[in-house]
Amino acid sequence: MEVIKISPRGYCYGVVDALTAARQAAKDQALPRPIHIIGQIIHNRHAIDELTQLGIVTLDGPDRASILEHVMEGTVIFTAHGVSPLVKQRARERGLYCIDATCPDVTVTHDLVRDLVAKGYYILYIGKKGHPEPEGVMGEVPGQISLIETEADVDALTLTPAQQQKLAVSTQTTLSQWDTRRVIQYIKAHYPQAEVHVDICAATQNRQEAVAAQAKGADLTIVVGDPKSNNTNRLVQVSEELAGVPAVRIEDLSQLDIAWLHDKKRVAVTAGASTPSQLTREVIRFLEQYQPATETATSTE
Ligand code: SF4
Repeated sequence: MEVIKISPRGYCYGVVDALTAARQAAKDQALPRPIHIIGQIIHNRHAIDELTQLGIVTLDGPDRASILEHVMEGTVIFTAHGVSPLVKQRARERGLYCIDATCPDVTVTHDLVRDLVAKGYYILYIGKKGHPEPEGVMGEVPGQISLIETEADVDALTLTPAQQQKLAVSTQTTLSQWDTRRVIQYIKAHYPQAEVHVDICAATQNRQEAVAAQAKGADLTIVVGDPKSNNTNRLVQVSEELAGVPAVRIEDLSQLDIAWLHDKKRVAVTAGASTPSQLTREVIRFLEQYQPATETATSTE
């Protein structure tokens, strides 16, 4: 079968750095034990399993502050998504040793919203409700920021005249560029004075643009990545909406359904920024060797 290997795809530098920090922590016997990661270091089950085997405990929960309540001693690792100053402060108050694996691109947004609020701006932050990245950014400037996911959230705003006068827009790093543009246009239609800062990171943009351009002409796009990974899910959306190619998301080869390949000649493959390369390589290798004639004899089950 013909396979279009979309490039760039897979791990971004923020994820590589976060995983490296966690692996080094596991090796460093001088660090206080136990070592906990506050939330999933990246949204990928395989990567988390690897760290578990190294003795690092991943704790998950509704938000970073409540997860931290379960940690009384040792070392904590903050994930690439970033955390609010309150979470860092609570960890320090408990005497925990902290390793901050926040991606530098997320830190840029933390610095930006703090700076804007210091200059008197109110912030409309476009992001995904319930995702850890907005939680960390919004915690920088509580009471001075509103989370916007859709146009309906813009309609529901009740801003004071002072807030309307000095209004700024910032965004989560892993959003769809096209969805974000649409929401920004809606905000600008209501608040033309708003100062707009688009903080979608280069890794997310490059991976989305690659799918929009390179998946065209394929019969199907397979996106390898975790269901919780926002940037992975956005790649499915980009394939369907921008390239006009149906797309499926799988965590790894075991989830590939042979029925999807029926009548398909060209399949495009990409992966989210938090997907280990090995998982994508296995999918590509399988597809390259796959012959429709062997359909009934071949199974991934
Ligand atoms: S997707 Fe972007 S913001 Fe997130 S870790 Fe990777 S480089 Fe950093």
